[in-house]
Amino acid sequence: MAEILVLAEHAGETVKKVTGEMLTAARAYGEPVAVWVAPGAEGGRSRLAEFGAVKVYVAASSEFDDYVVAPRAELLASLIEQHAPAAVLVAGSPEGRETAARVAIKTGSGVLTDVTGLGDALTAEQSIFGGGITVQSKVRSGTPLIVVRPNAIAAVPADGAAELVSVDFTISDAAKGAKVTGRVEQERGERPELTEAAIVVSGGRGVGSGENFALIERLADALGAAVGASRAATDAGWYPHKFQVGQTGKTVSPQLYIACGISGAIQHRAGMQTAKTIMVINKDPEAPIFELADFGVVGDLFKVVPQLIEDIEKRAV
Ligand SMILES: Cc1cc2nc3c(=O)[nH]c(=O)nc-3n(C[C@H](O)[C@H](O)[C@H](O)COP(=O)(O)OP(=O)(O)OC[C@H]3O[C@@H](n4cnc5c(N)ncnc54)[C@H](O)[C@@H]3O)c2cc1C
Repeated sequence: MAEILVLAEHAGETVKKVTGEMLTAARAYGEPVAVWVAPGAEGGRSRLAEFGAVKVYVAASSEFDDYVVAPRAELLASLIEQHAPAAVLVAGSPEGRETAARVAIKTGSGVLTDVTGLGDALTAEQSIFGGGITVQSKVRSGTPLIVVRPNAIAAVPADGAAELVSVDFTISDAAKGAKVTGRVEQERGERPELTEAAIVVSGGRGVGSGENFALIERLADALGAAVGASRAATDAGWYPHKFQVGQTGKTVSPQLYIACGISGAIQHRAGMQTAKTIMVINKDPEAPIFELADFGVVGDLFKVVPQLIEDIEKRAV
């Protein structure tokens, strides 16, 4: 059976959720083999095994951390040449997208980005034109390079041996052209990362002020969710821009998206409409966001959200 390579996304030894999602998808098309770049594979191994990785190609050099994506693209191109995998899956992070593009050039392969699902014979589903249209696409040349949108595919556990196989690889001088000279740890709260969260609670202009976002945060914390915001809310300075969901913000595909006081403009939908379940709280029954809602509450968010929090907290006891 041909191998399907999955470029593991990890922070140190911690395997990111999207890696399990990609391994789950890979299992349907061949032998899922993770590719681990930089140190930490021993620590991440059990997690890869949990999602069915048969093997893990490990390029353990800490030198990978000194550069951005060029060395890992070079590594992937070399693994494609050696192992002729049936496909390579990469996460739809900024680094993942750039890595895939570089590998495509190096190997003369087709690349599909922002993939939200995989069907027969690696036919990829993509959401295009701001999410307005869903298309099916297939790579016709080289090794299919599939860039998977985080949270789009449910990760399902399956046993794998995750045998660590050390890869002998030297980074070329050309790939060392741009060096990372320093790193600044991003301030992170207790909440999950927006694009990785299983639940996202977002607030829009209806929230009314920056202070009122505390209510959105309380609901998010009651659910263990990330907080998002519409552009109206971020432009008003009520919530930081890095939490903006939509065409010019982040794209999220959580299991549950709760939109509070958001009207559902096309540019907002583009970033959230592939969420599995969408819940809407809006006082205007005509708000277009209700077209997307699996569950909608017509009401004032300042009345509905506190009741919701109370009920959730009661259940948690
Ligand atoms: C090029 C371009 C890119 C853009 N990119 C983005 C993007 O990435 N993300 C994004 O979000 N937008 C984006 N926009 C902006 C987008 O067009 C909308 O203006 C924006 O999404 C509106 O935000 P909103 O839904 O919060 O506000 P509004 O459209 O003003 O909606 C507010 C909603 O809150 C409801 N409401 C008010 N008070 C309450 C209450 N007390 N309880 C319950 N409901 C209440 C109202 O009924 C209304 O439906 C972009 C626009 C352009 C032109």
